[in-house]
Amino acid sequence: MEKLQQLYEGKAKKVFATDDPEKLIVEYKDDATAFNGLKKGTIKGKGVINNQMSNRLMAYLEKQGVPTHYIQEINERETIVKKVSIVPLEVIVRNISAGSFAKHYGVEEGIVFDQPTIEFSYKNDELGDPLLNRYHALALKLATAEEIDTIEKYAFKVNQVLKAFWLSAGVTLVDFKLEFGRLSDGTIVLADEISPDTSRLWDVKTHEKLDKDRFRRDMGGVEEAYAEIMKRMEATLA
Ligand code: ADP
Ligand code: UDP
Repeated sequence: MEKLQQLYEGKAKKVFATDDPEKLIVEYKDDATAFNGLKKGTIKGKGVINNQMSNRLMAYLEKQGVPTHYIQEINERETIVKKVSIVPLEVIVRNISAGSFAKHYGVEEGIVFDQPTIEFSYKNDELGDPLLNRYHALALKLATAEEIDTIEKYAFKVNQVLKAFWLSAGVTLVDFKLEFGRLSDGTIVLADEISPDTSRLWDVKTHEKLDKDRFRRDMGGVEEAYAEIMKRMEATLA
């Protein structure tokens, strides 16, 4: 399957049409951004790691009953996926306080919740991805009530599966962002990516950050952290 015209270039990936109207090719870049594009940089080798990690985790999730857009990896940076119409919601699940949660509610990072939380933001760069709840999403006709129920159910299932997976790799799954889309028949599937760009991953023992926060917060050791988390994933899947 060949890449035809480029349909979109985002902050982390390029999206290409193929000769099959139901399939796309995504190409993962090393470009990194944070704070809604204000901070820009490169994380060498990130595209390869995010492509491979996202594909392995989505294949694993499929086996556990979560439908995804993943079809086939073509090479280190490129993957064939099912074309979806993206539901313009960023779905964030949290197990531990961190990032914007800690900031909004004035609490420290690292508080372990009794139950995971879920929140949505409106995927709209111009508006800075504002937070919204299901009633707002319904009012804005971003999704139907049934779709939101399905998305919530899958998001918690992804959390349950990946939390256990990462724990067996010696990693605590702190929080993550998901995107969902509709296939041409309306079926909701998990889309976009699952990677250290979109998840917070801490070493179980040392609480060392093995994710994009190292880039966001200028902590150094960014490439090494991505390589380490990839190594742990591969060892756990082997
Ligand atoms: P952003 O748009 O936030 O800069 P990326 O650089 O990751 O993000 O660009 C990838 C784009 O492709 C995102 O807008 C994402 O919603 C979209 N996308 C991801 N998976 C699919 C898919 N299966 N079908 C259509 N679009 C997708
Ligand atoms: N996240 C993401 N894309 C976004 C915003 C958040 O992938 O546009 C991920 C982020 O990596 C983290 C989780 O979602 O794993 C929660 O992020 P948070 O709301 O704390 O925002 P942040 O402070 O990271 O901007």
